Amino acid sequence: MLVEGSILDIDGPRPAYVLFRHGRVTDVGAPGTASTRGRARKIHGIVIPSPVNSHTHLGDAVSVREPPAGPVADLVGPPRGYKFQLLAGTSRIDKVAAMRAALARMVREGVAAALDFREEGVVGVEMLRTALRGVPLRGFIFGRPTRRPVDAGEVERVLEVADGIGLSSARDEEGPTRRSIARACRAAGKRFGLHASEAVREPTENYLDPRPDLLVHLTKATVDDLAAVRDEGVAVALCPRSNALFGRQADLRAMERLGLRTLLGTDNAMFHPPSIWSELQFAYTSSRLLDRPASAAFLARAALVEPWVWLGEPDAARVAPGTPIRPLIVRLPPEDPAYQVVTRTTEQVIVRPGPRPRRPPR
Ligand SMILES: [Zn+2]
Repeated sequence: MLVEGSILDIDGPRPAYVLFRHGRVTDVGAPGTASTRGRARKIHGIVIPSPVNSHTHLGDAVSVREPPAGPVADLVGPPRGYKFQLLAGTSRIDKVAAMRAALARMVREGVAAALDFREEGVVGVEMLRTALRGVPLRGFIFGRPTRRPVDAGEVERVLEVADGIGLSSARDEEGPTRRSIARACRAAGKRFGLHASEAVREPTENYLDPRPDLLVHLTKATVDDLAAVRDEGVAVALCPRSNALFGRQADLRAMERLGLRTLLGTDNAMFHPPSIWSELQFAYTSSRLLDRPASAAFLARAALVEPWVWLGEPDAARVAPGTPIRPLIVRLPPEDPAYQVVTRTTEQVIVRPGPRPRRPPR
């Protein structure tokens, strides 16, 4: 298959042709110069790296009704929020099935990896691992030990099965808990993340010491706070739709101007389906509601490029022969690729090069 149009990847937007064979990129060049002698199927469009959903709570997919009204702490706050009661009241088999359905949706939308905050300790991580079996999507799992005060044995067991530990927030977790868990993550060579400044502003020392690998939300952070996060080189995952449900909005424009390493995620699956494309569209539109517009280029990077850099795989964010992750083709006008991709991508405009992938699991 020959795509004539443009590329949008870690090196930015540019006019190009991209030639695919058996789903893999075999050649890239200036538009109109491909030497296929008319033998390849030709389409017009944009070729992009496969996106990453950088913040999910897929276990919440067990929720099938509109969540009750109320403050976010009552809904998703540990240990007795609505979601934790739902999780406790749902069988393991039903939780795995719900997570598998959410994963299948992400696969259909071209998502190649997801960073999930999985609650429920070792068992919770194991359930998501089971749900991921046979699914062509990489799950990066932040587990969460359940016992407080921290039980070193449990932390060790979580770190054996998870890729890191993701905590609720500095407000919910005491300093000694955060420090001992961050230390254990470091010792195991794994990542440490937590939610921060979501409902109220928290002082930066509460969430930058110990230094995390990933922060989530920062909706109430000041510009000075954001600059401190940037200076520490800590990445931030944003979830604009989830925040908007509770009347909050991260300052995307400030984050872009500061050069913060920004990722995009869909947060709790009980609030929204895990569609990274819906999240991108909402991020673009909602940043204009407050007259704090973020550029399409910045948002596209948050879904397509920064997470791969964070995962230590910048080559996955490149459209070129031999990259580790297959890129996506979107059938959209190629003249202004970031704008098109951010505001118009849906499952329906994604074209699969080469053989169809195996059917998504049910
Ligand atoms: Zn979260």
